[in-house]
Amino acid sequence: MEKKDSHCDPREVLERKQLARTAPRIAILEKLIRSDRAITVNDLVSEGMDMDRVTIYRTLNTLRDKGIVREIPTSSGTNYYEMACRHNPLHPHFYCTSCRSMTCLPPLAGGEMKAWLTLPEGLLARDLTVSISGLCGRCDGAPVRKEKEK
Ligand SMILES: [Zn+2]
Ligand SMILES: [Zn+2]
Ligand SMILES: [Zn+2]
Repeated sequence: MEKKDSHCDPREVLERKQLARTAPRIAILEKLIRSDRAITVNDLVSEGMDMDRVTIYRTLNTLRDKGIVREIPTSSGTNYYEMACRHNPLHPHFYCTSCRSMTCLPPLAGGEMKAWLTLPEGLLARDLTVSISGLCGRCDGAPVRKEKEK
């Protein structure tokens, strides 16, 4: 079987984390690895993921707890998910509160990251989520914005 060297292989990822290679885990990882953006449970369902939502949520939670995927919460309550591998280094996200779209921003530079993760003694960083919310390019010209202009 041919696999792209440019990204992870779902089975290898699960093996490395000592997780059973179940069909739902492999199917969801394949979707996340192929996607070039963060996706939601609704995206998975609408793209024909053939399993119930409970299974999808439970699978994503397991993958998140193992540090395989990143969960990006939003103010609307919808969580987005993406791979947390070396091919997709930690980066901030931009969430449009109008059309509810999520955009991945370029990764932080090493120094910036270090500054963020320098914590008072006794605190241990295991995860960092940087999210900016506002209006995306498509929603920027909406009447909402014009009212605010002086
Ligand atoms: Zn990868
Ligand atoms: Zn928008
Ligand atoms: Zn992202």
